[in-house]
Amino acid sequence: MQRFVCDCGNVLFFESSRCLQCGEEVGYDPDAQKMVVIRPGGWGQRCGNGVQYGICNWVVPANGAAAEKAALCFSCSLNRKIPNLKEERNVRLWGRMEGAKRRLVYSLLRMGIPLASKVMDAQSGLAFDIVSAQAQPGVTMGHLNGVITVNLDEADDTYRQINREQLGESTRTLLGHFRHEIGHYFWQRWMSEAAWDDPQRLAFRERFGDEWRDYGAALSWHYQFGAPQDWADQFISGYAASHPWEDWAETWAHYLQILEGSETFEGLGLETKRIALPVVNFPVEAGQLPNSLPQDEKADKAFVTWLQGWVSLSTVLNETSLSLGQPAVYPFVISTKVAQKLRLVDHLAKVWAAGK
Ligand SMILES: [Zn+2]
Ligand SMILES: [Zn+2]
Ligand SMILES: [Zn+2]
Repeated sequence: MQRFVCDCGNVLFFESSRCLQCGEEVGYDPDAQKMVVIRPGGWGQRCGNGVQYGICNWVVPANGAAAEKAALCFSCSLNRKIPNLKEERNVRLWGRMEGAKRRLVYSLLRMGIPLASKVMDAQSGLAFDIVSAQAQPGVTMGHLNGVITVNLDEADDTYRQINREQLGESTRTLLGHFRHEIGHYFWQRWMSEAAWDDPQRLAFRERFGDEWRDYGAALSWHYQFGAPQDWADQFISGYAASHPWEDWAETWAHYLQILEGSETFEGLGLETKRIALPVVNFPVEAGQLPNSLPQDEKADKAFVTWLQGWVSLSTVLNETSLSLGQPAVYPFVISTKVAQKLRLVDHLAKVWAAGK
């Protein structure tokens, strides 16, 4: 996340809706990718979901309509289904969902990845169904043909904590869910249509394994027997070991996490070179792309430096968290194999952002 500043010079945060120094109403403008002051009669107004339910701080171009008819921002406009808002609990949980989703959309827009809603592009656009288990019993999180379904109850801290314990996913978060599912969406959008010997597809297979493996059988196996003992040598999470598609989604989600974490540190003025820790040295191959892709030594090196920086920063995060009596917030070890997968994600995200 970048560091934002108000017109008055005060610092603003991504979730800010008012500046605490000058008192002006503020919001995030996804087109300009910055926080802006909302002035009466100005060019922009609050997203309709912000006006009506107080759950969104993004800004849309003013359309002259009364405030309660304000248009939805790009993030909110991606919703196809939302929960029943007559229930107060639903509004509260939905607000948390949208907060996590805006952070996802922020990252994707900032990476420059072209995004369209299903309304704009029925074939390959994106939509979200935010569904409560009361309305649809047994609803689970998932992606299918550009529609990401999320279970509203995941926004309930108690419910999510139970899942954390039962599934052994100590870092289960709403934002993590969104990042994981969007990974599936991008895979389907760019990879599934490519020829079997397309260079990107060959690269995928080399790093993540055979994508033709029976998905249903692989997941049943995983839920029955769990991940192999030595999963951390090759995977970022135990779940990633279940199938190459899940490995991709988990690695993609993890890449976004590092990207945002690193940008936040940088925005707040922390420099890795000032951290009093020995640098973790990844071997050269950690930054290398599979042979089917054009090689770029400079980019490989830049990637390894970036990743090493993150390892230092995450140690600062963990040690600070432990000092406060909390568990380590980043309980991950990045092996060389995982670094290589992250490198491929890094490369493909940039290629897709460039429209190739
Ligand atoms: Zn201000
Ligand atoms: Zn909105
Ligand atoms: Zn998945």
